[in-house]
Amino acid sequence: MSIQIHDTLTNGKRELVPLEPGKVRLYVCGPTVYDFAHLGHARCYVVWDVVVRHLRARGLEVTFVRNFTDVDDKIIKRANERREDPIALAARFADAFHEDMDALGNLRPDVEPRVSAHIPEIVALIETLVAKGFAYAPGNGDVYYSVRKFPEYGRLSKRNLDDLISGARVEPGESKADPLDFALWKAAKPGEPAWNSPWGKGRPGWHIECSAMTLKHLGPTIDLHTGGKDLVFPHHTNEIAQSVAATGDGVHADAFSRYWMHNGFVQIDDEKMSKSLGNFFTVRDVLARFDGEALRFFLLGTHYRRDFNFSDAILAEAEKRLGSLYETLDKADKLGAGASPAGRGGAVVDRARAALDDDINTPQVLGQLAEAFTAANAIADRKGKKTPEDRAELAAFGRDVREIGRTLGILQRHPEEALLAIRGRAAARRGIDPAMVEARIRERAAARAAKDFARSDGIRDELLALGVALMDGPQGTSWKVE
Ligand SMILES: [Zn+2]
Repeated sequence: MSIQIHDTLTNGKRELVPLEPGKVRLYVCGPTVYDFAHLGHARCYVVWDVVVRHLRARGLEVTFVRNFTDVDDKIIKRANERREDPIALAARFADAFHEDMDALGNLRPDVEPRVSAHIPEIVALIETLVAKGFAYAPGNGDVYYSVRKFPEYGRLSKRNLDDLISGARVEPGESKADPLDFALWKAAKPGEPAWNSPWGKGRPGWHIECSAMTLKHLGPTIDLHTGGKDLVFPHHTNEIAQSVAATGDGVHADAFSRYWMHNGFVQIDDEKMSKSLGNFFTVRDVLARFDGEALRFFLLGTHYRRDFNFSDAILAEAEKRLGSLYETLDKADKLGAGASPAGRGGAVVDRARAALDDDINTPQVLGQLAEAFTAANAIADRKGKKTPEDRAELAAFGRDVREIGRTLGILQRHPEEALLAIRGRAAARRGIDPAMVEARIRERAAARAAKDFARSDGIRDELLALGVALMDGPQGTSWKVE
């Protein structure tokens, strides 16, 4: 077994070899909690959740740290608009973030540090950078990082300082010695939360927060750091500069995190998702209309490094596909009940793990699952009584796909429960009232009992025109939304 991941720092696939054998120290940049989580958050946090689950399934002991940025310009601005305390506003949106991530089936991290609870650590780290000559305080209460002191500054983003200088500028009120430099500490302004420091009252810059929280909870060198590709520059670039200067050799970018993974963007109907384009979706918007597991299943259908395209129509399609997987699982459970599963749970699970070892190739695993479902359906739908071998195969199928599903965070619900939930969502989107459907099914049963087949067929066609398909079985008639 060898787990290969695409490492942004070296720009290629590399075997993940942790610093300490068997243990992975993972830091994921968490959200800046000034609003509800959007689809971009759903995408990246589902991906990193699968990374954690897969590494653990491979026997690695993962310490997963994901922060909450609860001190930030955007939070302060929003809180001032609403005349609310910024830390309280951030705490409210952090709770909402948990609800949304739970609904997507993400595991909670082992540690979730908040900036507001780490100010002494942040101040101490900045003091170290000043003492080592990597940072300076011009005397107005700000502290800046001297970018030119760190030789591998552009290594992660593959940019050199000449490229960066053309885009850099000094904002009014800033007292940087060099336009490339960035703020570690900002002097207090009226109406902002502020803490005491050796440079006077103020608050930390965004980048230093992650360096301080990584150091505190995972130590000076971590194995893996992840985030969206929009964070490569400047956020992760600056994290590296700070951490390597404070606790590393001050030269080599890989002295902080040994590997870096970055996920692609989310697009809506092939356009960038943005508030100004009016195509901005929060996770709650989407989960009000669609099943949470369906959204997760859909997100896993695109490789994490690729940009991801969202539309209601393709999510509805994915939800339907997930429903059909649960239908097969339901059939397999019922037909295979009591049979002892064939095999040891080998080949199918092994193939899925191998695909995940290859840079977390979730689309490939979903393709493998689709094949396993086709094979199970073929056995389940074959005419005639099931043989003991058939039943053992179906029992093994149920066991194996649930095992793979555990790593992907899907297919863990009871099939009947999942099917009801998915049907409920689809019905609500189409404006179909389940009570009306049930009433029509009872009328149809009465018509059939009275041998009034014209009427019973009429009811079936009428429901079908609304998008409701009836399935007659030994337990009576059930229905789904087509
Ligand atoms: Zn960060």
